Amino acid sequence: MMMKYYIKTFGCQMNERDSEKIESILQESGFEKSNLKEADVIIVNSCAVREKSEKKIFSEIGRIKNINKKAKVVAMGCVAQIYPEKLSKISDVVLGTTSIYDFKNFFNKDLRDFKAIFVSNQIINPDYIFGHLKKPTAYIDIIYGCNNFCTYCVVPYTRLREISRSYKNILQEINNVVENGAKEVILLGQNVNSYNFDGVNFIRLLEMINKIDKLKRIRFVTSHPKDFSEDLAIAMSQLDKVCEHLHLPLQSGSDRVLRLMRRKYTFKEFAKKVEYFRKYNPKGSITSDIIVGFPMETEDDFKQTIKALEEIKFDEIYSFKYSNRPFAKASLMPNQVSDEEKAKRLNIIQNLQSKISEQINKSYLNSEHEVLIESKAKISNQMQARTRTNKIVNIDNTYFNLKEGDIVNVKITKINKHSFNGEICIN
Ligand code: SF4
Repeated sequence: MMMKYYIKTFGCQMNERDSEKIESILQESGFEKSNLKEADVIIVNSCAVREKSEKKIFSEIGRIKNINKKAKVVAMGCVAQIYPEKLSKISDVVLGTTSIYDFKNFFNKDLRDFKAIFVSNQIINPDYIFGHLKKPTAYIDIIYGCNNFCTYCVVPYTRLREISRSYKNILQEINNVVENGAKEVILLGQNVNSYNFDGVNFIRLLEMINKIDKLKRIRFVTSHPKDFSEDLAIAMSQLDKVCEHLHLPLQSGSDRVLRLMRRKYTFKEFAKKVEYFRKYNPKGSITSDIIVGFPMETEDDFKQTIKALEEIKFDEIYSFKYSNRPFAKASLMPNQVSDEEKAKRLNIIQNLQSKISEQINKSYLNSEHEVLIESKAKISNQMQARTRTNKIVNIDNTYFNLKEGDIVNVKITKINKHSFNGEICIN
């Protein structure tokens, strides 16, 4: 009988890719995907970006053990990297963000000696090409870690210092996924703009990837605003496969708070980067991240964030209440904002952004867009697709035979809160 696995992933795209790496190791070892109750090995991939997300791995492992007492449990991800001893008390294997390659060498079907801690202070074999699941979009790591040490962030401690992967391996990996049916790649890094391997920078890398024959689309996350350049905005407009969507995390509209966060740009400098992007990619979309209630954020600082949102008009923002993180300098700052005040500020900017997003999305009505079919939609007979500008479009498939990976043109017929409906353009 085949052995079975179940994976639960919390957090960002890097975590999703790490889970996929583990999944490919398990499948290569002859395991098959199953539900929580029947699994022989259960993986919980954790996120440490906020206190609330950090706690989830502990409650999730408790929940799992109540449902499936016989399974071996692997605790992995950012929380595993910083608290290996604590997690080893409640799981069989602890796997830090650095050590997936070690896990590959350790893993076999014999689960009798399944007890280990894999955490290193450097990434083990960053160039190794792990397998991918067969999907239209493939995540590709191009740079690991972060050197920026923003004062609120735990990532430089959970994912360590920056290390770029060899461009030859990146190109090889992309060729592999394309041969396996992928149409789009999302290049991953905490700061993709810092990519540099043997003199090949991020723009040069994009140019190389753009030449891959069967690949249709290229996306990337995340750009640090201080490193986003006019040259990159130009390259995005000239390289036909690079999609016109930019995720550029602002975090705050107040220069004082940006300085306290150690973001290394002012709001004016940020706005200039947005101007570059829009100048060369006039039909493009921009999304961002905002933190409210950073220590010492005054009412006036917060008003500047509101003003910034009104001025820039992002397509969408991912907004969060500030949360103290281990090792992060802001945790030691005085004048922490109360939770009540943070919740109030979060509510204000989310309401404001909803109105801005609604306005922008309305402009899509009746326009035509190229979309990539990603999966079946929640509603039967519908497929879920994505525009080059990163908008979700649901398409009725009753009279068509759309499949994952197809690229078609659609007309937007309805605007919903978080998605559009679209009809296929016949000619
Ligand atoms: S750039 Fe700043 S926020 Fe982003 S991962 Fe690095 S330290 Fe964290």
